[in-house]
Amino acid sequence: MARYTDAVCRLCRRQGEKMFLKGTKCNTEKCPANKRPYAPGQHGEGKGKRQKVSNYGLQLKEKQKVKRIYGVLEKQFRRYFETASKSKGVTGKVLLQLLERRLDNVVFRMGLGISRSQARQIVRHNFILVNSVRVNIPSYLVDKDDLIQVKAKDKALNKIKDNLELSKDRTVPSWLEFKSADFNAKVLRLPDKNDIQQTIQEQLIVELYSK
Ligand code: ZN
Repeated sequence: MARYTDAVCRLCRRQGEKMFLKGTKCNTEKCPANKRPYAPGQHGEGKGKRQKVSNYGLQLKEKQKVKRIYGVLEKQFRRYFETASKSKGVTGKVLLQLLERRLDNVVFRMGLGISRSQARQIVRHNFILVNSVRVNIPSYLVDKDDLIQVKAKDKALNKIKDNLELSKDRTVPSWLEFKSADFNAKVLRLPDKNDIQQTIQEQLIVELYSK
């Protein structure tokens, strides 16, 4: 288990930022993104040996990063892009908004799961209600005024409580009104880029798909 967690946090190190992919390590100072903001195998920044990455390479890398963060496969990611590009808003912003509105992401943002993959399991296992209706589809998109609630007991509820405790240093974004005592959150407004703590250069992804 520990080995696997480490392996996943290798990606944090490669990206130079916390990915919250699996396990609790990202919630701690131990996540390599905290101390070594350069890719594995490199010995420090600016030593001159760094490979030049093409613009295409950068675009691809950014897309892979975002897909990994949200745990979305190419086909679905592409679909988000098409929806975003057909919308009236700015494509890149709408793309991020769609990803952020996913129910598994919301459950993660609330701190009910320590990672998005764990949050996804919580959704799949029927522990989440949206507006009092059970929703077990991780890609379900929440909307303004939706109420997301936990419906779990015994072991499952205790597990969620533990997760909340482990995630307490993560700030719940302000587009969600989170009541930890009631295990629920209301969607006050749709998220925007400023609500995402990770640095995402969505423009690179738009350029990539617009070729
Ligand atoms: Zn990490």
